Order: sequence, then structure tokens, then C-alpha cells
Amino acid sequence: VIVGIDIGGTRIKTAAVSRDGEILTAREVATPSSLEEMREVLRIAITGLQSNGLPVEAVGLGCKGIIHPENTEVVTLPGTLHYLEGHRLSSLVAEHLPPGCPVFADNDARAALAGESVWGAARGCKDALLLTLGTGIGGAILSDGRILRGTSGVAGHIGHLTVDPEGVDCICGNRGCLETIFSARAIESAASAAVHRGVASELTTIEAPLTCEKVFACARHGDAVAQRIVSRASMVLGAMIGGLIHVLDPEVVILSGQIAESLDILLEPLRSEAAWRSRSLLRRTVPIVKSELPHPSGVLGAAALAMR
Ligand SMILES: [Zn+2]
Repeated sequence: VIVGIDIGGTRIKTAAVSRDGEILTAREVATPSSLEEMREVLRIAITGLQSNGLPVEAVGLGCKGIIHPENTEVVTLPGTLHYLEGHRLSSLVAEHLPPGCPVFADNDARAALAGESVWGAARGCKDALLLTLGTGIGGAILSDGRILRGTSGVAGHIGHLTVDPEGVDCICGNRGCLETIFSARAIESAASAAVHRGVASELTTIEAPLTCEKVFACARHGDAVAQRIVSRASMVLGAMIGGLIHVLDPEVVILSGQIAESLDILLEPLRSEAAWRSRSLLRRTVPIVKSELPHPSGVLGAAALAMR
């Protein structure tokens, strides 16, 4: 089996995955707050899988931040997992593995694309684009069969495409990035601002916290203010996908992440916006689809790093 480990800001998920993408056993714990606790969590997870008698062939780790793909070092990782910076993820797991067992690691968006390419919506594709829609926006690009990393390991940070040169400040240091307009954080902030201005809307009746899911729920109920917030954000994301289609000419665009659960109201606006913008040059419609990996998809993506 391949061990897939998904290191997220709030949860660590581990699983034993078969070569055909079946999750044989899985576990999940809260993300620890120190390196020592992290070592212990990973030790328990890996020894637990091996005590089930499952022979471990390889380990794949998906983690937020910028991960050096050759030596698995965490190069940049702001936020709660900051303590991992400068450490090799392989060194956290190697001593619990059979000698010579290979360990692979990359950032979580590239891991998600690896998962789609081995077992999901990008199976058999040489060119694909994946976006992770959540608190922020992540991305990964499969080009001619290779997942792009770039010179500094940053390639694929689609959330930081500048949409509005004069826009609001972004956590990356730039301003007006895509994720300042379309992301859970951006949609929540637009809704809070509307409530603060005292608009007439169902949004003003919502019990705190005002989450992105609740804004989508108001839009589904027909609330005009919530609908405008969602449709403006979707138009911008759809336009960016249209632009990326011109740049990358992918076979498929895959949407994953927490917001991809709300594709009932997002998918058609995104598809039509991207399609009309790219129709003339491409002379075809690029399918925009939801991730095909079952939950927990992060561990499958991590395992797929080893499969690829
Ligand atoms: Zn940014």
C-alpha cells in the first residue's frame, strides 16, 4: 500500500491507499501545535497502519506552503504550521518506515492534481488545470504530462493573479489578487461589509459567524444582495479561468476544495463566463468539472504523489 498523509492547517489525515486508489484504512486528528507533537502524531499514524499488516511501499505527503519536491523540505509555510519551515517532511516519517521506503512530498494543490491525474477527472490527460477553492485559492497545472513547479517552486499560485491592479491588499503582499475577490474569505468579507452598511438582506438576520456557506444559502433562497455578491465573485473567477484556458489550453479544468461543494450555484456561471471568453481562439469548450476523488481526497492526492 501507499501511505497518503494530508497535512492541513486544522486536521492531519492519513490513510493506507491501494494502487487502484481504494482507501483501506484512514484516520484523522487535529493538527498539533508543535514539531514534537507532529512527530508523535505521524509516528502513531504510520506504526498503526503497519500493525494492520499492510506492507508500506511508499509514502506521499501533501502539505500547505512551498515544499521542495526533491528533498521534501518545507520552504515557506506561514500560519499555524509555521514550525515545519526548514524541516524535511521525510525526516518526520523515515524512521518508522521499512529501510529504503521512498517518501514524496509537494504542496496540497499539486497533490490534489496528482490525485486527479492518477484516479480522478484528469485520468489520461496531458494538460489539465486544477483550482482549489477554499479560504484562499490554490492551483496546479499539468502541462504535457508534468506538474509545473517553476524556478522557485511557486508555479500554480492562481489565487494571486492580479485581477484589479488598484484592489485591496492581499496576504501575499500584492493587491487586487483573484482570491481577494473569489474565495471563502473574500465572499465572507463582502457579505460582512454589506451587513455593516445596513443593506436590506437576509444576510443581516444570520447568526454569527457569517460564513461563505451561509452567503451561498441566502443566494439560493433568492436574496438579491447575496446573489450579487456570489455572481460578481463568480464572474471574476470565470473570467480568470477563461484567461488561463488561453494560456494553458487544457483538456479539462477541475474545481476542488470546500467551495466546490457549492457548485450547484457556481458551476453554470463559471462555465458560461469562461466559455464565451475563450470560444473564439479555442473553437471548443473546455469542460469545467468537479473533483472526482472521494473524501478524504487529500490523502488520495498525497498517495498519488508517490504513484506518479
Ligand atoms: Zn495575493
